Amino acid sequence: MVAGPRIAPGVVGSLPDPLVDHGAHSSHLGTGERKERPLQHPYQPDQEDRTRVRVHVDEERCQGHGRCYATAPEVFIPDELGNGREAGDGTVPEELEGKTRLAVANCPEQAISIEETI
Ligand code: SF4
Repeated sequence: MVAGPRIAPGVVGSLPDPLVDHGAHSSHLGTGERKERPLQHPYQPDQEDRTRVRVHVDEERCQGHGRCYATAPEVFIPDELGNGREAGDGTVPEELEGKTRLAVANCPEQAISIEETI
């Protein structure tokens, strides 16, 4: 059994609710109003924190089946021989991640690597 912090009986009921604004500032202003509003979680992921997906086609493995650029043409493009290549630097926009993973899973040569970065 793991021992938690010890709190004297009767104290718990008097602790302030951490999810409620108890109007500390308004009491400083003398209004006496107590506004209840939900507090935001301190960790708010933004675009910079989000995991990003990047793909790369191994030229040695690719046999030009074309499934990748048929499935996710925004992410994969054919070269002059019909072999698949990643578009740009291979970074996948978030909204295309699903179809990109489908394309990766359906490459018969397993020529596409997918990497997740933060
Ligand atoms: S599906 Fe695979 S083998 Fe076919 S073109 Fe794309 S990367 Fe190449």
